[in-house]
Amino acid sequence: MFRVGYGYDSHRFEEGRPLMLGGVHIPHPAGLRGHSDADVLIHAVIDALLGAAALGDIGSHFPDTDEKWRGADSARLLEAVAKEIADAGYAVSNIDATVICEAPKLRPHVDEIRKRLAALLGIEVSQVSVKGKTNEKMDDVGAGIGIEAHCVALLEMRK
Ligand code: MG
Repeated sequence: MFRVGYGYDSHRFEEGRPLMLGGVHIPHPAGLRGHSDADVLIHAVIDALLGAAALGDIGSHFPDTDEKWRGADSARLLEAVAKEIADAGYAVSNIDATVICEAPKLRPHVDEIRKRLAALLGIEVSQVSVKGKTNEKMDDVGAGIGIEAHCVALLEMRK
């Protein structure tokens, strides 16, 4: 049995924070504002995985009202979700994500991000797709206010 899930997230830029995308530090003058490290891509991946398994969402697992998750490394959250998905009997078939921002350019970092996400999920790099786009200067993301990320995930119930 296959199950599909979808995740979305967005965060505003904030000066003086490191920019983390898919568990990789990306050199940029601003990072993203958030309770955790604000890794918008990992957050979208987590919601896609939890959605596919109908196991709730990132907010129900790691509430941003909980001091425990302040400054949290989102890579650790993704590892915890990957374990929960596996414990529920699912294997990740593939994930496909899109990150939207005017800057920085994602292309030079895509392969490193794919490798990192694959390692965190315990799957092959060929099962992880990450695509970068601009918003053609439209709307708030196009004005450079922040970054948004979308992800779909396909899970297969292990026999
Ligand atoms: Mg988030």
